[in-house]
Amino acid sequence: MMSDMEFPPPEKRETYPPDCTVCGGSVTPKRVTLTYPNKEAPTQVRVIDGVPAGVCDQCGEKYLLHEVVVEVERLIAAPPTRQETVSVWEYAETA
Ligand SMILES: [Zn+2]
Repeated sequence: MMSDMEFPPPEKRETYPPDCTVCGGSVTPKRVTLTYPNKEAPTQVRVIDGVPAGVCDQCGEKYLLHEVVVEVERLIAAPPTRQETVSVWEYAETA
């Protein structure tokens, strides 16, 4: 299941909360990009683009509807739409 992923809690949510449950800000419907770890390849992340979500205007908390969580689960069971490489910068350690 999704419990180890960095998704908002997959509650049985059918509408966005009118106010953010974290900070009380207003929640606006948007399209967001979700990222979460790939268990089989821990150095990679998986990215889902264009996911509809309610986003808090103040703190950025994301709320997904239950039907969207179900669709995301369906999507990630299939091969990705495209592969992209990710650029990484390593912050040098000072000895
Ligand atoms: Zn908030």
